Amino acid sequence: MNVPATDRFTVSDAVNMYGLDGWGNGYLAVADDGNLLVTPSRDPSRSIVVLRIVEDLARRGIKTPVLLRFPQLLEGQVSELAAAFSNAIREFSYAERYLPVFPIKVNQQRSVVEGLVSSGWKHGLGIEVGSRPELLAAIALETPPDAVLICNGFKDPDYLSSAALATRLGKQVIVVVEKPFEVEQILRLAEEERALLRIGFRIRLQSRGSGKWEKSGGVASKFGLSTLQLLRALDRLTEAGLGPQIALLHFHIGSQVTEIRRVKNAVREAARVYAKVRKRGAGVSFLDVGGGLGIDYDGSKTSSDASVNYTVQEYANDVVFGIAEVCAEEHVPPPVIVSESGRMLVGYHAMLVVDVRGAISGIEPDPPALTGREAQVVQDLAEVSRKISVKNYREFYHDAIEYRDQAHSLFNLGMLSLDERAKAETLFWEIAGKAVRFSKTAKFVADEFVELEQRLHDKYLCNFSVFQSLPDHWALDQLFPVIPIHRLNEPPSRRATLVDITCDSDGEVAKFVDLKDIKDALEVHDLRPGEPYYLGFVLVGAYQDTMGDMHNLFGRVHEAEVVLDPLGRALIRDVRRGEPAGDTLACFGYGESDLVESVAAGLREKVSRGEIPREDADGLLDDYRQRLTHYTYLD
Ligand SMILES: *Cc1c(COP(=O)(O)O)cnc(C)c1O
Repeated sequence: MNVPATDRFTVSDAVNMYGLDGWGNGYLAVADDGNLLVTPSRDPSRSIVVLRIVEDLARRGIKTPVLLRFPQLLEGQVSELAAAFSNAIREFSYAERYLPVFPIKVNQQRSVVEGLVSSGWKHGLGIEVGSRPELLAAIALETPPDAVLICNGFKDPDYLSSAALATRLGKQVIVVVEKPFEVEQILRLAEEERALLRIGFRIRLQSRGSGKWEKSGGVASKFGLSTLQLLRALDRLTEAGLGPQIALLHFHIGSQVTEIRRVKNAVREAARVYAKVRKRGAGVSFLDVGGGLGIDYDGSKTSSDASVNYTVQEYANDVVFGIAEVCAEEHVPPPVIVSESGRMLVGYHAMLVVDVRGAISGIEPDPPALTGREAQVVQDLAEVSRKISVKNYREFYHDAIEYRDQAHSLFNLGMLSLDERAKAETLFWEIAGKAVRFSKTAKFVADEFVELEQRLHDKYLCNFSVFQSLPDHWALDQLFPVIPIHRLNEPPSRRATLVDITCDSDGEVAKFVDLKDIKDALEVHDLRPGEPYYLGFVLVGAYQDTMGDMHNLFGRVHEAEVVLDPLGRALIRDVRRGEPAGDTLACFGYGESDLVESVAAGLREKVSRGEIPREDADGLLDDYRQRLTHYTYLD
């Protein structure tokens, strides 16, 4: 569908149209020449031109789709989080410190974790793990001496021995008991191991989060100890002489909590539990408020699923103040506050750039001419198309539906040729397009035309896989902002939904962030022949890297790390090639040599029967072998 073009479209119109200032958190801007900029220091005069990076990479053979990582945005986020808590601690004269912890499941990429740890070193940034493999990674990471290593997730003896190893290596390990039976395992380990673990408890709160991940909290959650289980576990460990090891209480009410009220309630409830546990004599000194600090993906600052109705500072204030107040009322010393913010720390740092390969349009730009000898029903449709107007569009559109159905019946009876069928279909969509355009002049657009417009949107075919690169969009309808990385000084003349190159109809993005609503199509520019058109999926740094799958054997995309040097130049570091086809095949049991051998055997047979010349066979086999090394995405 066409978007009415305005005369003087400027880059600030583009900023408003895509809502960049709402969701960019100061890290994105648009240059006067229409290029999208990344501004790691939030200063538009010191920026990375995304298109230049994409072109530069393409010259080195790293073509789109490519995931760009901006490590300086990780640093920006760690600093923002630490500063918010330090402001709150100062403001409320809180007597203890704050320690941030990165839950590694949100992005386990080594470069991301190491970048975060070095940026967060001065703030004592630690790691939270939720599985044994994650723990094995964390053990090998160098972290600040005061940082904690929080061990969540299901534990077996192997997990606990690994935690004991981390303790021996000098890490401040806290093993969080999530299930009652883990207490006995810890006791068994304590008998065998010299390294004494510090112990925490994940508690099940009455309070719940809000948004898509609301089920993670509350009394029916799959995680945490009930009050009775907590009391029994405390007693059991104390009896066994492990009382002094009890260090932490933990809760997590789910990710992307959209309402600050939910955070406040949960913090107060947990602080109350902390105070009571202390009064029973346990030496708990840490309160871990889990994750949940959300990102404003649509920029609306509301409690809608894609947004949050609070700022990072407000979050920190409410956590610190809530804990301080409860501790004062209960006359217990305040705990060290730990938070496990993952999404907030890494969400901004990555952008997926894809190239658009073509448009699939509902309306045929080049309709066949009528000869006048077509069946009556085709002539009728042509007449409707000629005469439809703003005064009669509803009635005429309904007539067109009738003629279309008639044409369909006639074709099924063998009374309409394939040519006539083609003309009838084309005319029908032409009429539908006109009807939608006329319907826009009315004060209230009837539902029928709203739905029709949705069906008429262009589909832009994008070179990527939703399943690999935007799994949360597929699985949970999570919205991510999408914006062209160039031509933002031109009015986008079309509206389109985006489809990927998998052969799955779910591989589609048909919902887009909007300040007031959810948009059913994205404003995009016309495709120009021979010229690439690139879209950026932004804020994809949290969870998307790790949850993606290999639907249709499209594997990991190329990646590149981009930084701004002190002189303001953009530098590409650490290019990592995406998986070649041979690797994605190997994951499913198709060993490269087996594949090559089978093809070779097939060719030998053809050669022996004289069906393929010997000299061709060698070339064909080489081609096949070569293709196994190619990128899985469209070239
Ligand atoms: C997933 C998870 C987090 C991270 O939550 P975010 O909302 O991404 O900050 C923190 N803690 C635990 C226990 C988790 O499972």
